Amino acid sequence: MSATVPIIPDVTASFQRIIFIPFDHLNVDRGALKDANPKTDLVLFVQSKRMCAGRTWHPEKLFFLISSARHFAALLEERGFTVWFLEAENTPEGITQARGHWGALPVVCAEPSSRRQSAQLAELGVQFVANDFFVTPRELFHTWAKSQKTFVMENFYRAQRVRLNILVTDGAPEEGRWNFDADNRLPPPKEYTWPERLEHHRDETDNDVAATLGYRPTTTWATTREGALRQLQHFLDYHLEGFGPLEDAVTLDEWSLHHSLLSPYLNNGLITADEVVAAAVEKYQAGEAPLQSVEAFVRQIIGWREYINGMYWFLGSDYRELNGLDAKRPLLPLFGDSSTTKMNCVKQVVSHVEKRAWTHHIPRLMILSNLALITGTHPQQFLDWMRERFIDATEWVMVPNIIGMGVHADGGRLMTKPYAAGGAYINRMTQFCKGCQYDPKKRVGDDACPFTTLYWDFLDRHKDEFVKNHRMARQVHGLDRLTDLPELRVRAKEVLAGLDEGRI
Ligand code: SF4
Repeated sequence: MSATVPIIPDVTASFQRIIFIPFDHLNVDRGALKDANPKTDLVLFVQSKRMCAGRTWHPEKLFFLISSARHFAALLEERGFTVWFLEAENTPEGITQARGHWGALPVVCAEPSSRRQSAQLAELGVQFVANDFFVTPRELFHTWAKSQKTFVMENFYRAQRVRLNILVTDGAPEEGRWNFDADNRLPPPKEYTWPERLEHHRDETDNDVAATLGYRPTTTWATTREGALRQLQHFLDYHLEGFGPLEDAVTLDEWSLHHSLLSPYLNNGLITADEVVAAAVEKYQAGEAPLQSVEAFVRQIIGWREYINGMYWFLGSDYRELNGLDAKRPLLPLFGDSSTTKMNCVKQVVSHVEKRAWTHHIPRLMILSNLALITGTHPQQFLDWMRERFIDATEWVMVPNIIGMGVHADGGRLMTKPYAAGGAYINRMTQFCKGCQYDPKKRVGDDACPFTTLYWDFLDRHKDEFVKNHRMARQVHGLDRLTDLPELRVRAKEVLAGLDEGRI
């Protein structure tokens, strides 16, 4: 198929259904396609102009989503389907156009992955089949969450291991342990040789999409299932073994460490959770990867990923708009331009995101979200920024991750304690502070680390509510030991003003 000129398919077939494929449902064995028939079903893709132009998406992300969808549409044509890849003002208009052309046929789609698209398609009378892009049906998660007093991911994860029979025997965990987290927090290694990273070379479709966007993509991300499977194999061969112990480390010499780089493909459907988990478990069973690493990877997929998706649907439609700490600061300029900050950690992390729309979960949490939290940045502005700038940032991932875990805007519904950290912690866990003009140990003075100053200022600003939280009380009482609290409050105001103006 042409990558640039979507045309109405030249066929006279009379179809019985229109199968609508959102750009995050790209799998022939899942959703509405698994029972589709090339003789009676027309497959419709809609590239929404509003979706593409309505927000400041990272061009790497737009490129990835559109090129993956175009490749997938071509694959369906090879398999005998008639495909209409349509550019329209928005999705409803695209579906209405398809109905106008092909008749008032039933339109079928797997349950969308966001609340907004679900409501939009339901209003058009689209028929949904179950969303099986996750290993946990939504009702099953709902039942689990309803039975919990607090939503502890570890409890969900253990139940998943048993339910799915993964790394368990007779209900007991492999090697007697559910969790290797305590062993998996090694600091950045010294004089370590990182394996080569896989590059994904561009084909004609990629080049056409890139030209349309006026963007030169990196070679970091694949846009086909074959490429995604190559990435999986590369991870299994070169990275899985070292993944666990170093999963939380942040180094200066390697941006992806041993991370799998599979999340974009899991989130757009090119590969599935069950196949990546089965492949990792097989490596363990063959004695080719240690349990410490395999368990860490399995936890990310059947634990965290499924938990976050489940919570997105469980927490309700109002959850996205919560602002429990009444945070009102407009998004800092450094999020839009890494050159507007002198903080080495933030500059490095944001520049990684600028380059390839990705950084791993610890910089996201410890640097970016932590900064948004302690500066009192408006949660929805920060959420939108994360949605737009990260290649794997779907709505279902980002809403619980930011509103709940990242900036504690939900009053503790998801996590009982905010993830706030000062410079000393960042210094311990990363290599950023050595190259920084600020001093992580200082909280006052011109060279005080902004994270350290703002960490204490954040506790001070919210001490009345946090002192009632038994998990926070010790941190809040730490304020009593500060003899320089008046100066710290003054310095915090200077830091916040400097960050607002792009001077710090
Ligand atoms: Fe970041 Fe502070 Fe360390 Fe600088 S000193 S790199 S601002 S944590």
